Amino acid sequence: MGRPILNAPAEFIDYGPDAVLLAGLNGRNWRLADYVQRGGYDALKKILAEKIPPEQVVAEVKKSALRGRGGAGFPTGLKWSFMPRQFPGDKYLVCNSDEGEPGTFKDRDILRYNPHSLFEGMAIAAYAMGCARGYNYVHGEIWDVYERCEEAIAEAYEAGLLGNDILGSDFSFHLYNHHGYGAYICGEETALLESLEGKKGMPRFKPPFPASYGLYGKPTTINNTETFAAVPWIIRNGGQWFLDLGIPNNGGTKIFSISGDVERPGNFEIKLGTPFSTLLEMAGGMRGGRPLKAVIPGGSSAPVLPAEIMMDLTMDYDAIAKAGSMLGSGAVIVLNDTRCMVKSLLRLSYFYYEESCGQCTPCREGTGWLWRMVDRIENGNGRPEDLDVLTSVADNIQGRTICALGDAAALPVKSFIKHFRAEFEHHIAHKQCIVPAYV
Ligand code: SF4
Repeated sequence: MGRPILNAPAEFIDYGPDAVLLAGLNGRNWRLADYVQRGGYDALKKILAEKIPPEQVVAEVKKSALRGRGGAGFPTGLKWSFMPRQFPGDKYLVCNSDEGEPGTFKDRDILRYNPHSLFEGMAIAAYAMGCARGYNYVHGEIWDVYERCEEAIAEAYEAGLLGNDILGSDFSFHLYNHHGYGAYICGEETALLESLEGKKGMPRFKPPFPASYGLYGKPTTINNTETFAAVPWIIRNGGQWFLDLGIPNNGGTKIFSISGDVERPGNFEIKLGTPFSTLLEMAGGMRGGRPLKAVIPGGSSAPVLPAEIMMDLTMDYDAIAKAGSMLGSGAVIVLNDTRCMVKSLLRLSYFYYEESCGQCTPCREGTGWLWRMVDRIENGNGRPEDLDVLTSVADNIQGRTICALGDAAALPVKSFIKHFRAEFEHHIAHKQCIVPAYV
């Protein structure tokens, strides 16, 4: 499914003319001096020097219309306002750098090339919410990135940008990197908290939500890497500036990871509201000039959309949701006309079956049913009633599980059948693929 930018040669590292978060990086690892030279930590310095009230920081983030970049798209400022700032005792800040959604490879670029933007964003968030400790939970399969973050944290401590009495103020914030072991489910925020506590990474029942009962049972705010990394820019330039980069309710730029059948797979940072066709052009267009068949616009759990819908869309949370899918993590998986939709769904279904934590019955059993049924259709043993049964199983998983992995398994199945039913029917009736060029 394409080649992530991190394994790509230098000419593939091109974040686009609108890049803010990744601007000027060009595949270089920025050390603290590089970041500071470009205004890094100025936002934190300004807040501490001017003693800007925490409420004002939260208000600025609210004004920016920054939405969670991990997948849910929840308004960040609003989430911060849920934190009970006056709670006596420990409150925690957690960064979800457990980037494991198939097709997503953007956070690791921030962590590898510009980790200080994340640390500054976390320090500002900690100031705004009254947290003295934070954790950066890094996906377990990117060990070199974890090591890079460790180096960068040491630099920040040495420069007095983390730790006690930061820059001579009375604000203290201690930050720790923590690496997982690659379980997809640990990207679910409450499973991540369990894992951080040293337990099996299994999602918790909600409510209570982490804002009231999070890490070690204390109030906790969890945001994605890209979300935190945007915060210094917002504080430095103002919430209105960030909002104006995008469109109403969809402030700022967003990094999209493009993989699949394009000429130049990689990460591209664009303004929210940019047409999909522009993004596709930035990725070099369709590989070999073949026609676009479908796009999964927001990571493997987002419903697939056919080319005719996708080509009219803009890349923002609201437009993609209105078209029946999700912007999710911004992982855009591009499929050309040689792709078999049954085989593509089989790959996705196996992933969710494999990654289910097994805690709740509809997900544990249902993901296996979905995978086995798609597998038999793909392998010429499908039955005419299978498509209705598949949809019914997906319906019985969706909304009936502890965490969103159940929905993530169900939604691709329903959307693939909805938009490409003829291909599934052909597989069942003729025991072979409808796509002539498919090998
Ligand atoms: Fe575990 Fe699946 Fe239930 Fe989530 S939905 S808690 S992954 S069994």
